[in-house]
Amino acid sequence: MGKKEENVHFVCAICQQNVVSLQNGSYRNHCPFCLGSIHVDNKPGDRSSSCKGEMVASRLIYNGKKGWQIIHECKKCGIK
Ligand SMILES: [Zn+2]
Ligand SMILES: [Zn+2]
Repeated sequence: MGKKEENVHFVCAICQQNVVSLQNGSYRNHCPFCLGSIHVDNKPGDRSSSCKGEMVASRLIYNGKKGWQIIHECKKCGIK
């Protein structure tokens, strides 16, 4: 396992805040400031979507195993 420096932080495309990645290496799929993200995944984490639309948080659901999860809606293609 090598260290991947490019995963240290990113600038949120929606609110322009500098977002520091989680230290445990887990995949962060939304901005903690505006709760938005960018449509980059077809399936969670696969980064294979070419849409790149802004995804805004539309609702919260409670998943018994994972806890609270944010459901995003893409402003460009409308996918949830
Ligand atoms: Zn943001
Ligand atoms: Zn989209």
